[in-house]
Amino acid sequence: MENSIRISLYSAPCPYCGNPANSQPVVRIQYADTVDANPRIENFEGSGDVCTNCGIYFVNPRYISDAFKYLYGSLSIQSATAVKRFASLPVRYLLQNWNHPRFVRRTLARALGTCFESILMPPLPPDGFAGKHVLDVGCGDGTHLRSYKRMGYNVFGTEVLPEYARQLDAPADAVPHAIADFTDVDWDRIRPPGGFDLIIFQSVFYRLPDPAKALRAAWQLLAPGGTLLRIEPYCPSPDALRFMMTFNFPQGFTFVHDLTRYRETVRRFLPDATISSRVFHGRSHKHATGNELTLLTALGDIVRRLGCQAASSEPWFIRLEIRKPDGPGSAE
Ligand SMILES: [Zn+2]
Repeated sequence: MENSIRISLYSAPCPYCGNPANSQPVVRIQYADTVDANPRIENFEGSGDVCTNCGIYFVNPRYISDAFKYLYGSLSIQSATAVKRFASLPVRYLLQNWNHPRFVRRTLARALGTCFESILMPPLPPDGFAGKHVLDVGCGDGTHLRSYKRMGYNVFGTEVLPEYARQLDAPADAVPHAIADFTDVDWDRIRPPGGFDLIIFQSVFYRLPDPAKALRAAWQLLAPGGTLLRIEPYCPSPDALRFMMTFNFPQGFTFVHDLTRYRETVRRFLPDATISSRVFHGRSHKHATGNELTLLTALGDIVRRLGCQAASSEPWFIRLEIRKPDGPGSAE
C-alpha cells in the first residue's frame, strides 16, 4: 500500500562503450507497471535505450547493487523451490540412471536441452563431462549444480542473495559456494588449477551492472577450451524490449539487440573468443527467485497479464556460447 522503499538510481550511458552519442531511448515504462513490481518500492519511470554501436538495449536509470534485494522482495523462495522440485522429477530420474548407452545419453541430452534450457534445468552436455569443473554464477538454491554434480562434474556456485545460503548448505546435499558477486570472490583460493570448463549464466548475465567487467572476469576463470554459456532474453525489436521490461524492469540491465554487432562487441573485449548463438522463439519464463513455471503456465500467464500487448511482443531467448581456444598458448 504505502511506498516506503526508495531505491537509489543513476543514469549512465551504454555499459559496453560508454558513449552517449551512440544511444537513444526507444521504450518508456513505469516500474509500477511491471509484473514483479514490489509495491513497497516507490514508482519511477525508466527507458530502454538502444546503443547502435554495441548492438544492445540497456535500461536507464539503473539501480545501485544494494537495491537488488528489495526488487525481489515480494517473491517467495520457498515456493520457487517447491515448484522446481516437482517439475524436475522426471529429469532427476533420467540423471540418476545416467549410465545409459552413449546414443541414449545424447538423445536425452538434446531433448532435455531443448525442453528445459531456457525454463528450469541447466543445459546438458552430450558427453565427456566427468571430472570437469563447472561454475554457476547466480546459482540460486543450487538446483542446476546438484544436477551437474550427479553427472560427475566438480561444481561451484556464486549467489548474491544470502537467503539461499541455507539451501546451498543443506547437510545431505551441500553445494560449494560463495555468497557474493562473482567478481568479488577470492578466486585465487577457489579456482581449479586449470580453470573452469563451463561457466553458466542462466538468466543472470543481462542483470549484471558491469557486463564488460563480468566478461573479462569470467574469461580469466575459464580453462583453455572452456565455454562461457549465457541463456537470457533476446530483444530483436523495441516491442520485444518493451515485453522484457514489462517483466524485468529494472532487474535486467542489458539485452542483446543486434547479434552481429554484439558479437563484435564481445570480440572487442575477448579477441580470441569463438562465439556461437541460438535463438528461441515464443517462449518465456520468469526466472527470478520465484514463480518459475512450466512452459504452458508461463504462456498462459503472459496472455493473462499482458492481454493484447502480447500479440505484438513475442518473447525470445538467446543461448550464447563463448568459447576459449584450446592450447597452452591461449591460456591467460
Ligand atoms: Zn555501446
